[in-house]
Amino acid sequence: MKVSEVEVLTRGSVQTLTNFVDGQWVPSNASETLAVRNPATGEIVARVPMSTPEEVDLAVRAAHRAYRTWQHVPPLERARYLFTLRDLLVAHVDDLARLVTIEHGKTLADSRGSVQRAIENVEVATGIPSLMMGYGLTNGAGRDIDEEAVRRPLGVFAGIAPFNFPMMVPFWFLPYAIATGNTFILKPSEQVPMSQAFVFGLIEQLEMPPGVVSLINGGPDVVNALIDHPLVRGISFVGSTPVAKAVYARSAAHGKRVQAAGGAKNVMVVMPDALIDKVIPNVINAAFGSAGQRCLAGSVLMPVGPAHEPVRDALLENMKHIRMGNGLNPDVTMGPVISPAAKARILQAIEQGVADGATLLAGGSEARIDDHPNGNFVEPTLLDDVTPEMSLAGQEIFGPVLSIMPVETLDDAIRYIDSNTFGNAASIFTQSGAAAREFQTRLDVGNIGINIGVAAPMAYFPFGGARESFFGTLHGQGRDAFDFFTDRQVVIRRWFEESREHAGKHW
Ligand code: NAD
Repeated sequence: MKVSEVEVLTRGSVQTLTNFVDGQWVPSNASETLAVRNPATGEIVARVPMSTPEEVDLAVRAAHRAYRTWQHVPPLERARYLFTLRDLLVAHVDDLARLVTIEHGKTLADSRGSVQRAIENVEVATGIPSLMMGYGLTNGAGRDIDEEAVRRPLGVFAGIAPFNFPMMVPFWFLPYAIATGNTFILKPSEQVPMSQAFVFGLIEQLEMPPGVVSLINGGPDVVNALIDHPLVRGISFVGSTPVAKAVYARSAAHGKRVQAAGGAKNVMVVMPDALIDKVIPNVINAAFGSAGQRCLAGSVLMPVGPAHEPVRDALLENMKHIRMGNGLNPDVTMGPVISPAAKARILQAIEQGVADGATLLAGGSEARIDDHPNGNFVEPTLLDDVTPEMSLAGQEIFGPVLSIMPVETLDDAIRYIDSNTFGNAASIFTQSGAAAREFQTRLDVGNIGINIGVAAPMAYFPFGGARESFFGTLHGQGRDAFDFFTDRQVVIRRWFEESREHAGKHW
């Protein structure tokens, strides 16, 4: 998609998105296209082709050809492309945020934040000349034998993204992959492919060598073709746990590097000494921001002992201020969920929770928004008296639903969190350093918040995740990304005394 086309697109003209392969926009010859719908209005805003394995093959071959020369482009020159990309992204923050809201439904403020984090990842990757340095030791392998480890790229990488962060997640990988001298193919989520189409319109303006970055639209068939392709060296995946697990296993079976981030069930613990007025806005944002469709969303609230009643009452009072609607409206604080299927799944989870014995305190139904009868709106929902055996406690709901599970002690909370299969994030609200330290050091969880509801790592830190929330070793973003996209080559070097004779004793 060319940048100039975004205006047309956002006015409702429906076009079928194209792929960007070998430096060109190429229409897919897929027989199947899916409708991309604005989840707030139900309108079709684009169609996305389900590209074929043959099209994946062409993209991979082009990326592999590009790799032959791109790997030798000096790191500083590679970084300069990223400086220009950064400036183009900054110049188009508003266009991109608008597109994210149209395709995903989150508020403009949330969308802008996600574009900002994408930009920050580009900024971090521009440090490549320093960050890609290896290390060496004179006489490291013996007298007159030097040893060094250099970092080198590996080849073609592919990134596969989920629907919930159309702009941000691809940038956990893309800038690092190309900065380190690899070439990269992105497959966005077929539910939200528009903002990346716009990004590739900006990438086109960089005039990078063709094939360094490519965009291929599609679904599981594209994912599997990328994993199975012998010229693809590594896979970066973010999505639900069952798919992450399958992608991890399939990639490993082909001997590939793989990082696969999965789903989440994040818990927020409120200690009796927590400052309630500071806790509540954090909890509301964590549970209902982006309609609960963040992998760092707070899904279970565990008040400890006497914290239960005051937290519950303050939450109920403050939830009244959540304003549902179209995220393009600046007064709206919570948008729709992604699809009618997601809405049905979330309502079913609430119904099951109530059947299991949870107490419904607020919400629980689909919401009718006057101007948007076809939007996928679910009321912000609060349930109490949830117990560890209930499905509400263990399943990822990925909607605006917060379950209160009261516990007696911090120990109980830690035991529950560690018994959960997911290990993406957990937060504690307390004034006690000792309690916070106990929480942090005992939990097998990737991202910990202390008096922070959504502990989202900055671009220069890895985006954590443990147990069923992450399969692999190296995470997205930051130093982990530089490690994932490079290999260490060790060189042991010596020069014989005789070489002096050969040089004619000129030194
Ligand atoms: P999803 O697993 O349905 O899809 C993710 C990607 O995988 C998409 O590009 C999709 O086309 C592809 N895909 C779907 N089914 C596939 C299959 N059978 N084989 C191969 N590829 C397949 O996830 P989603 O619904 O788009 O995203 C929401 C999920 O992502 C949630 O579970 C959320 O917690 C998770 N998530 C995790 C993180 C993290 O950092 N851990 C970040 C964001 C989202």
